[in-house]
Amino acid sequence: MGATPRTGHEHALENTPFMPHDHHHHHHEHDADAAQEDPAPERTPKQEQEDATTDITEVAPGVLRSQLPISMPGLGHVNCYMLEDERGVAIVDPGLPGEDSWNHLVDRLGRAGFTVDNVHTVVVTHSHPDHFGGAIRMHAETGADIIAHETFSTIFDPAESGDDEDSGNLDVNSADGRAAAMERYFAAPTPWGGKRPRPSPEFMERMRRSGGTSGSMFGIPAPTQPMIDGQTVKLARREWVAMHTPGHTYDHLCLFDPEHGAVLTGDHVLPSITPHISGLTPDSDPLALFFDSLRRMADMTDVSIALPAHGHPFTDLGGRAEHIIDHHQERLDIIRNAHHELPNGTVMDFMRVLFRERSWGEMAESETYAHLEHLRELGEINCHFDDSLARYTPTS
Ligand SMILES: [Zn+2]
Ligand SMILES: [Zn+2]
Repeated sequence: MGATPRTGHEHALENTPFMPHDHHHHHHEHDADAAQEDPAPERTPKQEQEDATTDITEVAPGVLRSQLPISMPGLGHVNCYMLEDERGVAIVDPGLPGEDSWNHLVDRLGRAGFTVDNVHTVVVTHSHPDHFGGAIRMHAETGADIIAHETFSTIFDPAESGDDEDSGNLDVNSADGRAAAMERYFAAPTPWGGKRPRPSPEFMERMRRSGGTSGSMFGIPAPTQPMIDGQTVKLARREWVAMHTPGHTYDHLCLFDPEHGAVLTGDHVLPSITPHISGLTPDSDPLALFFDSLRRMADMTDVSIALPAHGHPFTDLGGRAEHIIDHHQERLDIIRNAHHELPNGTVMDFMRVLFRERSWGEMAESETYAHLEHLRELGEINCHFDDSLARYTPTS
């Protein structure tokens, strides 16, 4: 490995199975049919997988779509929207951390007629690195505001790391603090008793040394304008309404522009893949929250265009939200039916029913856990611990 710590960071991000949010894009629309035959191996690539182009397109009045390259399972780009106004420009989801992505961001701003100095605001839809990556450097270089939901957080935050007595003392923007947070994260079992896959020692060391510089892949932005549901912000010369949409992550934020009917949907609603649902959230029933958040999208009237973080802008936001609700209802039914064979199953047992083998792992376990806990909250199943492993049993 070279002496320049930044080299290869993007690569590390895409290849290292170390954090839930690194695999969050393990979307599995096509894993939903695990029990079905798959006779058509040549499926056309999903639009979310398309490589980033350098195109700048106006997708709503004063709103430009640009694309930044990312390489994660199932994803080829992240949309970075630019919202122009008299003050300059606001950007939404400025891509992965690191030099490469930053250079692409500067290039796309230039193609749209802007410089870095024109950026007055960075909106971050949620706490995944392909969305918040460029925010901390932009803030460092221009003093741009960072808008995110008030609960914006990552696994390094004490709230998601259990309630260790010393967790409040960790500074995640210091190398040692981050290393300690990582160690603690990987040492703790999951709430369902599973083991977390550990990253390599080399990766841990590289992460520890990457430091708190503005270009560091592990720098975590702190919102300067934390938003709550219903709050408004003026961007692109009009008011946008914040919509807290927990599900994909607990801190997910959408923005709605009532004047033109545009909705920035982040990863909450994507055009052709279904977002991962994490079971590791501050809420006891994240799937119920996701259903509520999707229902809000489905019930919106006067939507003219949905602007997702991956894939093409689309018009039928309500239909797409309904589809994702149906998808998860079907997954719940699969679990209900599997209880005949698995009357006392673990999260791992049900994961193997829900997911294809290539998807097995903590991400799939976490999503399975969210579904099981939803059924438990509905009163359909009980959970008990046997040898530190959660087991689920039908109540009747
Ligand atoms: Zn995401
Ligand atoms: Zn994403």
